[in-house]
Amino acid sequence: MKMTVIYDNEAKEGLQSGWGFACLIETEDNIILFDTGWDGHLLLRNMERLAIEPESIDSLVLSHQHWDHIGGVTTFLDRNPDADIYVPASFSANLKKEMESRGKRSLHEIKGPQEICKGIYTTGELGDSIKEQSLILDSADGIYIITGCAHPGLPSIIKTASTFGTITGIFGGLHDTQDYELFRNMQLIGAGHCTKNKSAIMKLYPENFVEIFAGYSADL
Ligand SMILES: [Zn+2]
Ligand SMILES: [Zn+2]
Repeated sequence: MKMTVIYDNEAKEGLQSGWGFACLIETEDNIILFDTGWDGHLLLRNMERLAIEPESIDSLVLSHQHWDHIGGVTTFLDRNPDADIYVPASFSANLKKEMESRGKRSLHEIKGPQEICKGIYTTGELGDSIKEQSLILDSADGIYIITGCAHPGLPSIIKTASTFGTITGIFGGLHDTQDYELFRNMQLIGAGHCTKNKSAIMKLYPENFVEIFAGYSADL
């Protein structure tokens, strides 16, 4: 399995940065885009520079209904209307209708934890005020979690993901968590986008901490 960050507030040379998050997960059988950042053109430009074909993506999973995670949806669907779309069921009815009208495949409304494709699961929508789903990757060396902004809080995301196995690592926005004990047994803590306390996490786990950016990739 391979995870590549396509869109983040930070970017490696040659790629563009922008507020938001998007990453690609490639398995033997599927290619999944998780979130789209805000600017769909920036998303497609970074994909081109990373030699990712938008048309090759079979599923689009959206974490939560915030502009910096879904802004690129229409531009992406213009390019690839054939992807299955997975959104938290609580997305606004009109947004779901719009997305459905621009895609050719089905819109899946996610409530509880479920399989998305082989080895890839969703936590289901978690949280009270801002509902969000995270991805769970069942890789050869354990479970990796991919979050959008982690608005529901890491305790509830990690609790749900733990039911799938031992958690090896986490990538994405870790929001304002100060519950640093949660990272204790993780081998990889990839903080990106909206992580508020990067330096505190890095201080506690210097060997396992990585700051992710557009262009970062990891074989899992
Ligand atoms: Zn958010
Ligand atoms: Zn965000």
